[in-house]
Amino acid sequence: MTNDQFSMPKECSMNQLSSSGMLGDRTNVGHLGFGIHWSLRHWVLVILLFISFLPTAPLHAAQPPSRDPVRWWKGNLHTHSFWSDGDDFPESILDWYKTNGYHFVALSDHNVMQVHQRWIAVSNGTRKQALEKYRARFGDAWVELRTVTNQLQVRLKTLPEFTRLMEHRGRFLVIPGEEITASYKLQPIHINATNLREELKPQKGTSVVDVIQQNLDSIREQRRITGQPILPHINHPNFGWAITGEELMQVRGQTFFEVYNGHPSVHNEGDEHHASLERMWDVALAFRLSQLNLGALYGLAVDDSHQYHHLARTNSNAGRGWVMVRSARLDAASLIAAMEAGDFYASSGVVLSDVKRTPRELSLEIQAEPGGRYKTEFIGTLKGFDPTSRPGPRPTNSIYALTRLYTEEIGTVLAVSEGAKARYQMSGDELYVRARVTSTKPKPNAFGTNETERAWTQPLMPAGAAAR
Ligand SMILES: [Zn+2]
Ligand SMILES: [Zn+2]
Repeated sequence: MTNDQFSMPKECSMNQLSSSGMLGDRTNVGHLGFGIHWSLRHWVLVILLFISFLPTAPLHAAQPPSRDPVRWWKGNLHTHSFWSDGDDFPESILDWYKTNGYHFVALSDHNVMQVHQRWIAVSNGTRKQALEKYRARFGDAWVELRTVTNQLQVRLKTLPEFTRLMEHRGRFLVIPGEEITASYKLQPIHINATNLREELKPQKGTSVVDVIQQNLDSIREQRRITGQPILPHINHPNFGWAITGEELMQVRGQTFFEVYNGHPSVHNEGDEHHASLERMWDVALAFRLSQLNLGALYGLAVDDSHQYHHLARTNSNAGRGWVMVRSARLDAASLIAAMEAGDFYASSGVVLSDVKRTPRELSLEIQAEPGGRYKTEFIGTLKGFDPTSRPGPRPTNSIYALTRLYTEEIGTVLAVSEGAKARYQMSGDELYVRARVTSTKPKPNAFGTNETERAWTQPLMPAGAAAR
């Protein structure tokens, strides 16, 4: 997508500026001392000349270093709309996030960027409900309807259109996204690309690891060609029990994955046969940072929201998981740079006011809520850990691979602290240390039973062992 695909929303067109009297047919600027009368044509020429001198840098290109202080920005990088299997319009979804404390959102529809000409039929109750809310919120001048063979249809606004309508510089950012939806045999392999420029097709491969790698490589190739920072992340490894810890550990290059996904079918916690995503994180980190020398694996929390009209434990609703990224600027390049530096955390409810990651120390401060008690566990694996493992018992008739069973030396709780501040000093023996904060506060609209709010920092590695 290029800048010139961005068009002016209808309510901001020149015609309307003129007819609303904002330009006027004849504008007297004599009071400024020029003593001349300018026609509308002159004004239009001046405005066009002004526009031609505006900077033409790509919308999400890197900016020069900022003097603004760094701060936390809240965002969700996994969201679905009517452009794939979500049940609402992009503007309505973005409006929810914008009015619920988020600063950035990527709409990541399956195998599509929202840049095509597309009409959808108002063919069921959910769509009727979505349309009613859409018209009430954005007005009939914005909503485009037509009737084809007695069927009412609505045009889906494109990424440039809804971005222009919803973005608010310095307060709310819309980042281009796509969920590249691939598979290996029956296993779903889904990879999100955040801030991509052109739609990407799912890649095939000869194994689970190969499918992941082919798709990551295709995203990185677009980044290399365009120079635009693009962040890939591996989605919901336990959805369809698709990806094991051993597979996650083999992926080449700095890797991001979802340690928490708000969709009710993704098995964040694993089950009696399958490892939880946190267990897989530790297994993968331990080997990536020692024998495999493959660099960091960073964890995100996301919504993977599809259903926006009814809150229910069994629905994939918005607001369950997000990332907090520390950056001076709210633009895609700055946010991605901060995430690549590990300067972000994942949350399903706990808010951290500070996270310090120095070569010697991992510490954090919790924005404590009244009535909430907090436990911070510093989880890590030491150098020279026991790498032995054995296969676990298989569920009956399962065709899928299982994460193997490892010793407790992987992902050991190295320290625990209670209260709003927690600090871990590196001894020098750690391959990595990460922090998990658990609140006693029950998570609102959780899909898990007895789920309380949590946050996860990124692993801190000793200097030299950082991301490759
Ligand atoms: Zn998915
Ligand atoms: Zn998804």
